[in-house]
Amino acid sequence: MRLRVGLVGIGKIARDQHIPSLKANPRFELAACASRHSTVEGLRSFPDLEAMLGAVPDLNCISICTPPQAHFEAALTALRAGKHVMLEKPPTATTRQIALLADEAARQGRTLFQTWHSRFAAGVDGAREFLRTRKLVSGRIIWKEDVHFWHPGQAWIWEPGGFGVFDPGINALSVLTEILRDDVCVERAWLEYPENQQSPIAANLRLRTAAGVEIAAEFDFRQKGEQSWDIELTTNTGTLKLARGGAELSIDGNAVVTDASMAGEYPRLYQRFASLCDAGTSEVDWRPFQLVADAFLIGERRIVAPHEI
Ligand code: NAP
Repeated sequence: MRLRVGLVGIGKIARDQHIPSLKANPRFELAACASRHSTVEGLRSFPDLEAMLGAVPDLNCISICTPPQAHFEAALTALRAGKHVMLEKPPTATTRQIALLADEAARQGRTLFQTWHSRFAAGVDGAREFLRTRKLVSGRIIWKEDVHFWHPGQAWIWEPGGFGVFDPGINALSVLTEILRDDVCVERAWLEYPENQQSPIAANLRLRTAAGVEIAAEFDFRQKGEQSWDIELTTNTGTLKLARGGAELSIDGNAVVTDASMAGEYPRLYQRFASLCDAGTSEVDWRPFQLVADAFLIGERRIVAPHEI
């Protein structure tokens, strides 16, 4: 059966990834969209989710691409209307909200797919497999990008609930929690806040696994020149490196997986969504979100130079 989808929040990621992935996947029919200020050419467009649900009652699924501050209300409305829901990362603005959404999906007998797109990068499965039989010794994450290039004009990222540098940083943590055998906690965190913004522009975390191994993470939005989305994990028998957000995997410097286009993540996300809808199950994993929330809870704060959006 084809799944009729309504897309909510037409911005950068909806246009760059969701719309092309939906159009390329025969399991889905992109039937309508809802966005306060944007429309999609050739598609029935509505100013909000309620209007879309009322006018197009035969939608099976709602895919939500708004910033996290707007996720909870939209997902709750869609689930209560009996729709399957796919949710962009970060899951919600508060940790309790994603738990309530998971409960609501179960009550409604609908699928909630709370996505972590970086987990679908080409090198991630190989990294998990490599670590399955090895003992971790140390780890380092460097996730540094130029916010002006990747998030042009996005005021929401700096507002409360916008996550600041954790908007990309949570992607690294989603990969880490996916590939490690052991659980991991935040031991210490240092957050840098621009004096004119509500969310951090940089963060350093000291993570520790249940087996006692330290993993250092550096997130920074002020990166110029080469961008870094790298995870390096040293084991008793070799070092793995996931680069370019997980698109490239190398072991001891030898390339194992290279996805030059980085184009596979969202098509794979929608394949998974179709399987979850078919099976009538949900996929929700809030561990990366808990790590970020814990960094906010215990992080030492430093005020730094103002940042202009
Ligand atoms: P964006 O370009 O700002 O687009 C989001 C759209 O959501 C806006 O254009 C806006 O459209 C709508 N919206 C609804 N409520 C909003 C609110 N309270 N504040 C601001 N916009 C609101 O953002 P994006 O880059 O697409 O990111 C959206 C989500 O996707 C985020 O959770 C982000 O982490 C995730 N994501 C982004 C990327 C990326 O490369 N940009 C990659 C992966 C995941 P209307 O004004 O028309 O309603």
